[in-house]
Amino acid sequence: MNTYRTIADVRAALEPRRGGTVGLVPTMGALHAGHLSLIEAARAECSTVAMSLFVNPTQFGAAADLETYPRDEARDLAAAADAGVDIVFAPTVTEMYPPGFQTWVDVTELGSILEGEHRPGHFRGVATVCLKLFTIVRPDLVYFGQKDAQQVAVLRRMIADLALEVELRDLPTVRDPDGLALSSRNQRLSTAERELALALPRALATRDPERARELLDGLDVDYVEVAPFDPPVLAAAIHVGSTRLIDNVPIEEAS
Ligand code: AMP
Repeated sequence: MNTYRTIADVRAALEPRRGGTVGLVPTMGALHAGHLSLIEAARAECSTVAMSLFVNPTQFGAAADLETYPRDEARDLAAAADAGVDIVFAPTVTEMYPPGFQTWVDVTELGSILEGEHRPGHFRGVATVCLKLFTIVRPDLVYFGQKDAQQVAVLRRMIADLALEVELRDLPTVRDPDGLALSSRNQRLSTAERELALALPRALATRDPERARELLDGLDVDYVEVAPFDPPVLAAAIHVGSTRLIDNVPIEEAS
């Protein structure tokens, strides 16, 4: 596995591999089993697996969230190599956003509801960085987690609207045995906060917005809504201490 810091270098490394299928797994690092499930899916159907490792500043609202985002590149590179990644693209912020940068992708409707309403500009940052990563790596397939169901919906829309020649695969949310969806931000939860956070998967498991709202009563809830994605999901965002958590479940799995 080789790691590249510049657009020119990663493009040169990919050039001889273009005869086969190139898969891209975009990440912000702090890799966990959720990320590894995406790499595993890519490994199963691509001759080259590329992973990007870039904490994208333009998708963060609060400066504190960006500053405290967990970063451990050495650990991430070891985990990526173990999982079978061939090529890591880990650019600097200046490489991705050179001085004078001013071009943005805005998925206007899907990007402004739910998460977009509570995190203005978030999906503009996500869509812009993903389009740039897709342009740099030119993958045949890209892999994303349903954990971020709205991100999947926004990116599918962008791919269709801009006629991008890439296919998006979305993979199921990986959870801890207690039900909490794996997230890099879970590292910040104290034991007591983690207990409180378990209300989120329990509430969503009802697959009923009213009952979910009842179960989350007393917590700091941004939204609990049925989201009009394909498939529709019951999605929620809550704050536990200084950590904001999101999760969702497909509605039709209701028993
Ligand atoms: P992030 O590093 O948080 O930007 O996430 C990188 C990718 O991993 C995104 O496509 C996420 O949706 C996906 N992901 C994050 N958490 C999980 C999870 N618990 N299960 C499956 N995929 C996940």
